[in-house]
Amino acid sequence: MRSVDVIIVGAGLSAAAAAKRLVDAGLETVVLERKALPRHKTCSGILSPRGHRFLIENFGPLPREALHDPTWCRGVTFHFPSMVSMSMDFFGGTTPHLNRKYADYWAIKRSGAEVHDETSFAGLEDAGDQVVVSALRDGEEIRYRARHVIGADGPSSLVIRAIYPDYPKQIPWFFVGQKFHNIIECPLDHEYFHFWFHPDLGHYTWSHARDGQQIVGVGFKRGDNFDARHRNVVRYFEEKHGVKLDPHTTHEGCAENFGPSLVNRYVFGKGNVLVTGQAAGFLNMIGEGMSCALHSGAISGEAVVEARLRDRPVQEMYRRMIASEVRRTTDQWNPLKIAFERPHEADFPAALMQLSWRERRLVVRDLWRFLLLYKEFKWGREIVRAAASRFLGDGYPATRWI
Ligand SMILES: Cc1cc2nc3c(=O)[nH]c(=O)nc-3n(C[C@H](O)[C@H](O)[C@H](O)COP(=O)(O)OP(=O)(O)OC[C@H]3O[C@@H](n4cnc5c(N)ncnc54)[C@H](O)[C@@H]3O)c2cc1C
Repeated sequence: MRSVDVIIVGAGLSAAAAAKRLVDAGLETVVLERKALPRHKTCSGILSPRGHRFLIENFGPLPREALHDPTWCRGVTFHFPSMVSMSMDFFGGTTPHLNRKYADYWAIKRSGAEVHDETSFAGLEDAGDQVVVSALRDGEEIRYRARHVIGADGPSSLVIRAIYPDYPKQIPWFFVGQKFHNIIECPLDHEYFHFWFHPDLGHYTWSHARDGQQIVGVGFKRGDNFDARHRNVVRYFEEKHGVKLDPHTTHEGCAENFGPSLVNRYVFGKGNVLVTGQAAGFLNMIGEGMSCALHSGAISGEAVVEARLRDRPVQEMYRRMIASEVRRTTDQWNPLKIAFERPHEADFPAALMQLSWRERRLVVRDLWRFLLLYKEFKWGREIVRAAASRFLGDGYPATRWI
């Protein structure tokens, strides 16, 4: 059985950031990835300025193959049912439009960790002084022994299931699907990522240009009909925005653990097992998850290094060190902070100031109606209450974790 300091499960961005910290501290680190690398990842690839800084500072300049066309994004445009649209530029200029297949592969290689791809995490046993991890490769079981394990395995984390078998039943699940269309005519500005706060379109509706095509994406409660939802959005785009598209050429979708960061509830792990990235619940507003995956991943790596240096329990270290990232993610959902501070990395206050008073009122009304749509979710009332209490300045629901 191979013995190492740390096993990381997953080879996404949170894993790359964790691995970088561990390898830099001299810890022997093995990354297990279930897919063959470089692997596809369903993602719009719009990187926030903070995520961009993290990549440059930790891994260096991005190679061209890690980018889609257009290679950069200028910001985000919000669209409302009242037909008010607000374009917000990212602070500090444009950011890269990542091709996750190659960007993630580049980052994990740059971390210096040893990567075992096509190796699926299957289970673990934490004996207190060590964790035995079992994995499957080519149908064969392989075992590893590690002092610590970091679950960086994304929304449907098996590491979480290994330590909390009931967790998937406790949280709301969401489905997001996107279809790729050749463009006949598209007046939506291709320099921006477009997002619709429209209750009739669904819980999460977006569109942007990629590699000569237009992506039309929809998010909804698990169990709804993807094709019907998508058709409705394409029709709306044509009627309201003059977007004319050919039938889609490809499509993809996946389940998402939507909601934990909205209600300030995370899962950080147990014993010698840490959970990080989107698996832990980190997801910023409108589904931006790369920057918090990178930062939380780095913190999980640092927590392991600190715990070993100081001979302290790793969970204590991690919970203390992760508090700033939790706060930052929570602030993203705080309407007061959005209106008067800058929790986001695009200039919402400036865009709002460009609207007339009438339009601002419409935006607030539309946002509130959109939020009410989430009532039907598990945790829906909690989500609406959390937003309302933040709006009224009552502070945050306390951070909870399991
Ligand atoms: C449609 C869509 C659009 C998005 N758009 C954006 C965007 O524009 N900007 C943005 O910032 N974020 C976006 N996100 C969110 C972003 O993709 C995620 O938040 C981010 O990738 C999370 O990173 P992670 O490292 O935590 O997990 P992931 O990137 O999900 O990586 C987890 C890795 O673990 C591997 N894995 C899983 N199970 C196992 C196992 N049992 N054994 C071994 N390996 C395993 C997976 O194969 C994967 O490689 C989008 C998400 C979706 C679904």
